[in-house]
Amino acid sequence: MLRITELKLPLDHTEAELKTAIATYLSIAETDINSFSVFKRSFDARKGHMLLAYIIDLDVGTLEAKLLAQFKNNVHVLATPDTRYHFVGQAPATFTNSAQRPIVVGFGPCGIFAALILAQMGFKPIVLERGKKVRERTQDTWGLWRKSTLNPESNVQFGEGGAGTFSDGKLYSQIKDPRHLGRKVLNEFVKAGAPDEILYIAKPHIGTFKLVGMVEKMRAEIESLGGEIRFQQRVDDLILEDMPDGNKQIRGVRVTEIGVEGHPSNEILSEHVVIALGHSARDSFEMMHHRGVFMEAKPFSVGFRIEHPQSLIDAARWGKYAGHPILGAADYKLVHHAANGRAVYSFCMCPGGTVVAATSEVGRVVTNGMSQYSRNERNANSGMVVSINPSDYPGGAMAGIEFQRQLESQAFVLGGENYNAPAQLVGDFLAGRASSSVGAVEPSYKPGVNWTDLAAALPDYAITAMREALPAFGKKIRGYDMHDAVLTGVETRTSSPLRITRGDNCQSLNVRGLYPAGEGAGYAGGILSAGVDGIKVAEALALDMLK
Ligand code: FAD
Repeated sequence: MLRITELKLPLDHTEAELKTAIATYLSIAETDINSFSVFKRSFDARKGHMLLAYIIDLDVGTLEAKLLAQFKNNVHVLATPDTRYHFVGQAPATFTNSAQRPIVVGFGPCGIFAALILAQMGFKPIVLERGKKVRERTQDTWGLWRKSTLNPESNVQFGEGGAGTFSDGKLYSQIKDPRHLGRKVLNEFVKAGAPDEILYIAKPHIGTFKLVGMVEKMRAEIESLGGEIRFQQRVDDLILEDMPDGNKQIRGVRVTEIGVEGHPSNEILSEHVVIALGHSARDSFEMMHHRGVFMEAKPFSVGFRIEHPQSLIDAARWGKYAGHPILGAADYKLVHHAANGRAVYSFCMCPGGTVVAATSEVGRVVTNGMSQYSRNERNANSGMVVSINPSDYPGGAMAGIEFQRQLESQAFVLGGENYNAPAQLVGDFLAGRASSSVGAVEPSYKPGVNWTDLAAALPDYAITAMREALPAFGKKIRGYDMHDAVLTGVETRTSSPLRITRGDNCQSLNVRGLYPAGEGAGYAGGILSAGVDGIKVAEALALDMLK
């Protein structure tokens, strides 16, 4: 196969015009092209024109060698790289259910992909997930949004599908991925029902409803390959054995059956345990810290959600092309380096979406964002967050969690102690006065907002940096600092406040057989990178089992 990059066409071109452009670029006849497919499609908005920029793979049969030689000095014509996934090994045929099966704790994107790859290699993993199956979990999540009732074990953070299930479902990442593991993640998502376009559009997203069905299909595949997924099984302890070299070896986990009356506990033995908990499993981090698993504090960010009319963002980003169906709702990415040394940046931007209540703990308020596939809600929302680092919350590996909890508890109080979120208009925030009522932008947060002064919701350095950043952002996106844009607080769970550090073999630095993985362990930030990390860890685990 041959690949052409940077082939540009107007927004409204036809399929036939694309084929003509390919043939013209290579100076060949259209009949020389046996077939072609779009590997990637993005927008090019330079010079006041909006164009579609393509990476195309095509089959030209025996012409390929001639064309590669002819275009050897053209960096935009090359042989198509092999992006297929290659398994690192297969379990022996003798591997049965009575063998020591690997355990995967957590069934978010990282745990799903760790379990899927292990299952596809024949290792029949046992998955332990504290939350419920995705449909039951959806009811509990709505319980908070519609009735202000939180279930601490079944919510936006906990349950089948993990934290990203009720999300915008953005599927891109800036991780280095020389082995194209991200492609494996996307291919599996398509197999599970995601639209094919996620394979080729530059910034794919799938939205909440599609994610729910996909998660169920991926569960079914793991089960069909001999894997087992046990819900409402919370891992509350690790069974560790001291080794002569001062390290420990994992021998298994202790599980509390939270769905069964009396919450009985049991032990499951295994010397290979993937721990893919997400960033909100604070009780589990405390347990592992208590057991002596090596972990350290890491930087993360805190801030607010900000909402604007989506039409304002579309006009700023797409100009006269706003509303074109191929463009959809516009996103943005902003960063400002404030005079006090803090970076303020947009985080997890959700075009045409809603701000959601994302706490997993009683008496706390946390914001995040989600959307449906159509992205056709009235508002654009994004985290607007400020970087912080361990010197802001000294006290060791667990201090970041305490810092988050303080901010989330304070937000609960500011919101009126009923899971409403504290909110303020941007104009009032900049002027340093409390807001008392809604303006032109209706906040989308459910169950509701309490108008207040958000200056009390974050440390002074964060408020100062945000007050400086908003007008600067207004220069990049006209109207961004509009008086009636809505700030909702607080956004504290941007990433894990700690890292469960691992070595080159993907195992914990001091617990052999324990594979810390995904966002909670500090090795991913987002659905795609968590899935990729799940694959990496599954591969390392399989190679260790095959030794
Ligand atoms: P998680 O998805 O958090 O999964 C961890 C799982 O472990 C959970 O299901 C939890 O119940 C389980 N668990 C925890 N402790 C235990 C225990 N002791 N025993 C058993 N099970 C346990 N990312 C994007 O890339 N795009 C987006 O559009 C996007 N939008 C988001 C919107 C929202 C509202 C939220 C909350 C997050 C969003 N994210 C998004 C972030 C993304 O969801 C996470 O980065 C990703 O889910 C991390 O995957 P993970 O598997 O590492 O952890």
